[in-house]
This record gives sequence, structure tokens and C-alpha cells, in this order.
Amino acid sequence: MLLSEKSENDRGTLHHIVSKFHFKTFNNTAKDYFLNIWDFITFVTTAYVTLFAVTDCGLDSVDKRPSDYPSQVSAQMDWLSELAHRLVDLVWMPPRQEDINTAAAAAAGDGEKKKIFPFCYCREEKPGEQLVRCCSNLCPVILFHEGCARAQTQSDPHEDWFCGPDCSADGTYVYCHCKEQKGGQMVQCGLMDKCRRHEWYHRDCLTTAEQTRAQQTPWFCSESCSMAADGEEDFVLNYTRAVVWEGLYHMARRDAIQEGDGEAMTDFWRMDMVLLWSRQHLQLFSSSHQMITGMEGFYPERVRQDMKWNRVLNLQGTSGGNVSVDLLTELMINEFKGVIEFGKGSFTKQQVEQSAQLAGAQAKHLDRLFFTGGNPLNLSTYLSRLTSSSCSRTEDVSRFVDEFKKDELFGFKPGRKHQGFDKFSYQQRVKNPKKMGRSMRSLSEELDRRRDQIL
Ligand SMILES: [Zn+2]
Ligand SMILES: [Zn+2]
Ligand SMILES: [Zn+2]
Ligand SMILES: [Zn+2]
Repeated sequence: MLLSEKSENDRGTLHHIVSKFHFKTFNNTAKDYFLNIWDFITFVTTAYVTLFAVTDCGLDSVDKRPSDYPSQVSAQMDWLSELAHRLVDLVWMPPRQEDINTAAAAAAGDGEKKKIFPFCYCREEKPGEQLVRCCSNLCPVILFHEGCARAQTQSDPHEDWFCGPDCSADGTYVYCHCKEQKGGQMVQCGLMDKCRRHEWYHRDCLTTAEQTRAQQTPWFCSESCSMAADGEEDFVLNYTRAVVWEGLYHMARRDAIQEGDGEAMTDFWRMDMVLLWSRQHLQLFSSSHQMITGMEGFYPERVRQDMKWNRVLNLQGTSGGNVSVDLLTELMINEFKGVIEFGKGSFTKQQVEQSAQLAGAQAKHLDRLFFTGGNPLNLSTYLSRLTSSSCSRTEDVSRFVDEFKKDELFGFKPGRKHQGFDKFSYQQRVKNPKKMGRSMRSLSEELDRRRDQIL
């Protein structure tokens, strides 16, 4: 969706970058495809993020140091994390909450004994009742019925409201960019609950200029909010945000794999559900659903732990050297195909058949075949490249920044668009969320049926 042949001459689009920075096109074998696409994603994301940093700090080149950059290491980390938050705020594009609510309600079904409504203390769907949200940024439940909220906590859910002692004590807060529960006067973004960032802000957390602007109503917390209020859009900015969002998403996911972080990998699967549904990859949608349902409690504890934590291999024994099992299997099978192709004639039919079996039941002979002796298949080359997450194109990154600085790809210029894309918009509504919910429900019922048959 982000790569369009037509956009080759549109500055800053992926297609333009492919040709400008001489990336090979991605039509070789599957293993080259993997390596090139990773190189490319890492490069583009690093380059865009650097461009954002340079723009945000008002610098004119990557070699300059921002004037407010602290000298102490601990303060530097805070400074960088604030910068990172500003970037993520700009590009973060979750699906619309109302779509998720619709899907969740449809998944809960009606008039059944077993309710699986994912919110509130009651876990029951109550159509028409207003939902309120818990103000902890870490709340595991998030939304509650107003009636249930009042009954449970005796405090007014229209004020800052926390669903229980754990949430009110954790010190986090869903609003403001500080995400801290620190009290004091607050200001609301003029887009109200449609705000694209944090909706409510501590007055003290705004810059002096923002505080002055916030005296007038309506006040908008960001360019993207005032843009939404005007109804005018900047389609180039939409595109930029989408590229960075996709790139960071892929890189964060790869980090999770390399660190063997099962919790994070499971979260990625959860987020994929919406995407898989919208793109109608129904087979994958159904297997993701099964995996998540399994891990949320459908499968026995031991299987759950296995699924969450044992989906990676670390064959080189290096830190950060984990590779996802799926990806490795893919490479193995490719290698086998290659070897068999290469050795045509010198293998007997029986040998070829044996090899093919090994590719399927890889585990037993994997070690002997690939990782001992002279490592004839040179798989370690792939592994080391797959596991290096640094970008080796530092010079290209500064060239990129010099080249695109003047384009203001992160600025808000209503009305502009890339010629190769019709009005580019990335944050799409979930397609038919009700149907998505119902489909998840029938998948769950199918799981129940199968379990009942076994037990
Ligand atoms: Zn309730
Ligand atoms: Zn809570
Ligand atoms: Zn704040
Ligand atoms: Zn806003």
C-alpha cells in the first residue's frame, strides 16, 4: 500500500527512496527478499526518524547538537525519551475506539450464558449504557459501564476516576503527554474525545506559548488536531506518518523476537488481528485468534507458557541473537530447495526424499546439518544479518536528511499530496467491525466445540 509504482517521482515516497538510494528491487529469491527488505525498512525508518529529530530540534544538519541537550547521561535518556514520545505521538495510529467497541460487543453475542464482553467488572454487554474509562494508563480493563463504576467505587466517574486501588496507586494517567497522575488544572483539546493525542493536558505541562494559546477556545493540542477540526488534510504528512509507523512497528517487533520477549510478541499478534481482518487474510486471522485465545486461558498452562516463550531459537548463543522459529523454518526450507537444486544428479532419489523429510521434521537433524563442521550452507551469514538491527548506512542517512529537510515532510501543509497516491489516508476504519466481532465469536465457539469433543 505504501509502495506504488506511480510514486517514483514523488519526493520522499518509498518508491522514490528505492531508486534514489539504489536499493535493489525486491523481486529476487525469497531469502534475498528478506534481507533486502530488512535493509530497506531499517534504512528508511532510521532516516525518517533522524529527519524528524533534526526538524523537531530545529537543527540544520545531523552533525549539530541541540542547544538544550543535557550533559548528564541520565538526563540525556530523559531528553531522548521525550523526543521519542513526540515522534510516537505524531505517528501513532490505533484503530478507532468505536470500531473496537462495536467488534467487542458483537463478539459478546446476545442472550447467552457465557458472556465474553471484554470490559467492565461485570463482563456483560449492556447495550446503550454509557462507558467510562479508568484513568490509569496501565489499566488492564480500560472501559466500564457508568452504572457499574458508580456502584463499585462510590466516586463520580465523570471526575478523574480509577477502577480500583491498584489503578489509582500506580501513578500513571491516560491523559497529558506526561502520562502522570499529578493533579492540578487541566486543559482540553478542542477536538475533545476525537483528539488525536492526549485530549486533556496539565496546564503546567504546556509550554508558555501553548498556555497563552489555550486561553482561547477552542484550543487544539497539535497541528493534526487543528487540521482535523478544519477538515483539511495534508496527505503528504499522512503518508510520512504511515511510513514511520510501519517501520517502527516492524523494528519493534523484530526487537521483541530477538529478545525472546513473549509478552511483547503476543501484543503484536493482538494488534495484527485488526490488520488481518481488514486485509481479509482470514486463514491467518483465524490462527491468530486461536493462538491468542489459547494464551489468554483456553489452553492448559504449560502449553500457554510454551507458546508465549518458546517461539524463538538462539542458535548462535549470542545476546539479542534470537530468531523466530517461523522465519528460521522458512530459511531452512529455502536452503534445502537450493541444495537439492544445486546437487541435481549427484544425489540419489532416496537422498533427495530424505532431505525433503528433514525440512519438515527439522528439529532432530538440524544441528548436525547446519551448525557443526564447516557450516557448508553458510546459514550463519543470514543469521548475523537478520539479527543486526543497526543501520549500516550512516552516510546515506545524513544524505537523506540533507535531501529532504526542505520538503518539510513532518510539517503540516494542508492540501498537499503525493501525485502517485490518491488522497492518502492510513487510519482506516475497521471494515465491518460487527462482522469481525461475530467472526471471532464463531471461532471461539468452534474452539469450545472441539474441546467438548475431546473431553
Ligand atoms: Zn458493567
Ligand atoms: Zn483501572
Ligand atoms: Zn502532564
Ligand atoms: Zn488534540
